This record gives sequence, C-alpha cells and structure tokens, in this order.
Amino acid sequence: MLTSPTEAPRRARPAYRNFRVAVSRVERLSPTFVNVTFTGDDLSDFGTAGLDQRVKVVLPLEANGFASFPDGEDWYTTWRELPGEQRNPFRTYTVRAVRPEQREVDVVFACHGDVGPASAWAGRAKAGDEIVLIGPDEFGSGRTLGIDWRPGEVDTLLLAGDETATPAICAILESLPADATGAAFLEVPESGDRLDVRAPAGVEVRWLARAVPGAAHAAPGSAHADHGSLLAPAVRDWVVRHLADLGVSRAGTDESAAALAAAERDDLPDTPLWDVPAGHSLDGACYAWLAGEASVITGLRRFLVREAGLDRRQVAFMGYWRRGRAELE
Ligand SMILES: Cc1cc2nc3c(=O)[nH]c(=O)nc-3n(C[C@H](O)[C@H](O)[C@H](O)COP(=O)(O)OP(=O)(O)OC[C@H]3O[C@@H](n4cnc5c(N)ncnc54)[C@H](O)[C@@H]3O)c2cc1C
Repeated sequence: MLTSPTEAPRRARPAYRNFRVAVSRVERLSPTFVNVTFTGDDLSDFGTAGLDQRVKVVLPLEANGFASFPDGEDWYTTWRELPGEQRNPFRTYTVRAVRPEQREVDVVFACHGDVGPASAWAGRAKAGDEIVLIGPDEFGSGRTLGIDWRPGEVDTLLLAGDETATPAICAILESLPADATGAAFLEVPESGDRLDVRAPAGVEVRWLARAVPGAAHAAPGSAHADHGSLLAPAVRDWVVRHLADLGVSRAGTDESAAALAAAERDDLPDTPLWDVPAGHSLDGACYAWLAGEASVITGLRRFLVREAGLDRRQVAFMGYWRRGRAELE
C-alpha cells in the first residue's frame, strides 16, 4: 500500500485531491461490467455526495508505477510539465458507491478490451493492485463539484445513456424519492449486462442490449448494432408517448433521433461535448440527463430540443467518450 498524503488542516483542503488506494476486491458483474472496490487509509475522508460524481482514475506506468505522479492540489500542472514517458495516464469514471466507515470506494468499469489503458487495466485488476483516485474530499471546499445531476423541481425525469453511463444512472436511480416519475434507458452491449438496480415504482427502467445471442446480424439488437441505434429510437418513442406529461411544445417530426445521431457523427467539433444547465425549476416540466458516446448523446439532445421542443435548460448532456478517440488528458 502506498502512503497517504499528509493530513492537511480540514478547512484548507481542496475540493478534489489524490487518494492513493489499492484494489481490495474485483467482482465481475456481467460480460461487460467489472466492479472494482478500492481501499485506502484516507478513504474515510472521501466525499460521499454520490449521484453521477466523477473521479479521475490514474493508472500505473509499467516502468515505475506512480513514482513520478505528483501529489498536491496543483498535480495537473506538474503532471503536464513531465516528460511523456513519466506521465501516468488517467481517465474519468463515476463513483458507484462509497463506504467511508470501511474506507472503500466502488467504481464500475465497462470493459471494452485492451484498446484503452483504463479498460485494459480493469480487465486484469486484482486485489493488491495500486492506483490513484482523484476525487472529492468530504471536508474540502465544494465537495459536490463533479456532480452534473441537477434536476431542480420537476415532475418527470428522463435518463438515457450507454454502458459508460450505466454506473451513474444506477446511482441516480437509487437516490430518487419514492414518488419520482419518469424513465431510464440504458443501452448496453449484451443482454447479460442488465444489472440489478433499485428504482421508484414510477420510473420505468428499460435495458437495451445491442447484441442478443443468436440474433441475425445487421439489425438493431444484433451483434453489429451501432452505439445508440437502440437508445435513440427508444427515447424518441417514449418522448412522443409522454408529450402531454412533459409539457413540451410540439411533437417530433418524421426525422428520427437515430438519423440525427448518425448525421452528428461526422460533424462533431473538437470541443468537449458537454452542457449542464444550472438546475432550473420549470414547473411541471421534464429534466433530461443524457450521457454516453458523444455523437449519440448530441443527436439525442438535438432531438429533444429541436424536434420535441424541450427547453435546452431542461437537458443536461455529457459526451462521456468519443468513438475512435482516446479521452483527452
Ligand atoms: C464524467 C464521466 C464519467 C464516466 N464514468 C464511467 C464509468 O463509471 N464507467 C465506465 O466504464 N466509463 C465511464 N466513463 C467513460 C470512460 O471515461 C471512457 O470510456 C474512457 O475513454 C475509457 O478509457 P480507456 O483508457 O479504456 O480508453 P481510451 O484510451 O480513452 O480510448 C481508446 C479507444 O477506445 C474507445 N472507447 C472508449 N471507451 C469505450 C467504450 N466504453 N466502448 C467502446 N470503445 C470505447 C475510444 O473511442 C478510443 O478509440 C466516464 C466518462 C466521463 C467523462
């Protein structure tokens, strides 16, 4: 186990900081999902705000682990100044669960093979492996930094995402009050990736599997269905069926959300695809939270705003990853 950072006086702590941790357990939840439990001496101080709270998972260098990884609030500036071979790669993940009393944090990785350092690491993770989490300090200034779920006071909730957003959607669903209403759509690689999740009775939870064992190829739901090819039409159908509840101004047109997502794919700017409204209260209205592959999510947002007529302040959209591109560090 690596040593913990020196204890700073509680009031002076930053919102986010390094936690040097080790894997204590690895549980394969499904063909795609792996839950990795981290433990560390100072995880008792890890922030517990939950929901879609994000962390950076810093991965070891093959040559020297974390010997060159900087501690301290200004770690990013120092890290950027290091020669390339001394820079530990890091990626963004969601805190699935926090148990401060047990000094434990869970992160659920959607494994997509060895093409990225985080997925490759998660696929082989075992008890004792050391990493660094950059996450919220319970006693820091602004520990809710990194939470984008801000529904305000609305009647109807709509959550939609792919496997990378599944941990966040599950954590959000489990936090909702019993009288919450709405729907959650989770598009995952396989039918076996459907996870157990608690949700209020009024929130419909729909799992959409891109590959169904034994299905013919080239159709949605087959081994070759594209990211978003199930999510976009499912959300569209639901929105059209619930227009009255949502209080939106007009119905969708014949242009499908899937077609919008496909058109978006070739037309993405190089800037992060992210917009999180500040948490407006639109009486009786819907709040939509969308996260996953950037082109799919951007297409869905365009459908909700341009076609279905939702106010853009009602839609939070987050491109969690981009097809064909590694995460920008
Ligand atoms: C706020 C936030 C929260 C997130 N939470 C989670 C989470 O809890 N669990 C989780 O699994 N992911 C989560 N992600 C997504 C995760 O950060 C990305 O999938 C990341 O790119 C994975 O890093 P990597 O090293 O495996 O691949 P990278 O090195 O970043 O990418 C390598 C290649 O893999 C592709 N790729 C990346 N992710 C996938 C994927 N899922 N499926 C197929 N191809 C992919 C890229 O397009 C690229 O071509 C989150 C992202 C954000 C921004």
